[in-house]
Amino acid sequence: MARKGFSLFCAACMLAVAVPGMAAPQYHPEVAAHRGASGYLPEHTLETKALAYAMGVDYIEQDVIMTKDKKLMVMHDVYIDTTTDVAKRFPDRKRKDGRYYACDFTADEIRSLRVSERFNPKTGEAVFPKRFPLKTSIEYRVPFLEEEFQQVQGLNKSTGNSIGVYVEVKEPDFFEKQGLPILKDTIDMLTRYGYNSPDSNAILQIFDYDAVKKARELGWKGPLAMLVEADGQGHKDDAAVHAWLQTDEGLKELAKYATIYAPDFELLAVPSKDGKSYVKSDLGDRARKAGMKLHTWTFRVDSLPKGFKDVDEVMDFCFKDLKLDGMFSDFPDVVVNYLKENKLR
Ligand code: CA
Repeated sequence: MARKGFSLFCAACMLAVAVPGMAAPQYHPEVAAHRGASGYLPEHTLETKALAYAMGVDYIEQDVIMTKDKKLMVMHDVYIDTTTDVAKRFPDRKRKDGRYYACDFTADEIRSLRVSERFNPKTGEAVFPKRFPLKTSIEYRVPFLEEEFQQVQGLNKSTGNSIGVYVEVKEPDFFEKQGLPILKDTIDMLTRYGYNSPDSNAILQIFDYDAVKKARELGWKGPLAMLVEADGQGHKDDAAVHAWLQTDEGLKELAKYATIYAPDFELLAVPSKDGKSYVKSDLGDRARKAGMKLHTWTFRVDSLPKGFKDVDEVMDFCFKDLKLDGMFSDFPDVVVNYLKENKLR
């Protein structure tokens, strides 16, 4: 959670004054474990979330999708064939496009699947070949959102920490069209677990601008992040919506709903014309001016952004130039260690 600065308001002199002996407000960038410590153990398993927790992150991410019987499960895609053995277990359940969809399976069927490191379903090859082995006999399974909340809150109880959750509702428009109320049910579950308040350590994140607005209509009072990318990349919003969300007008409008602006890193470090370097864009500063915090995604040690020569250069740019408020990483320990070495936590 953000460390809050302490001050007393001096009515007589109309100045905010620091309390002697107490720390002045500090720059404290936050680290979100992207799909867990997914650089080390298969993404979106309870095991990788526990590992991330132990690395001292601020938030652990859950991507949420929905089963046929309306259970909220944690997986990155609406498809379930990139991290599970569904194609072997249920070969006749694919759709015409050859893909297997969560919303065609019951929670019990999902529970019977085994999770592995991410792979390309066409080739069977690992997406990140240097990471955890693709083929093991370990029976990792798909977590459900409720289990993730119970694990984080359980660890908060047993360790005395207050690590938060960073929940992304995936493709709400797609699920609503299947008759599955994913946004409402996610907000309801966050509420049941005590997360629905303005100072909550749960952040709700969505790629879909209409859904960001709808989340407020549905009663979400906590932090809300709008995920922004250059071209929409197949999400419901088209490129025009995300281009508008990068204009001053769009930022001002968005800030009525969202508290966090979370663009793709490529929108903050624009590749230079020759592609060999990068230039800082003014987008982050403009988003802050509109009243939002600035988070970005995704830092991966094994897939550095274009134009950066090493990990330190990325970290310096993020925390000394951009002054990010938060960052998603598959390797959260690398970010945590950098921040500690630079006295930022
Ligand atoms: Ca996500």
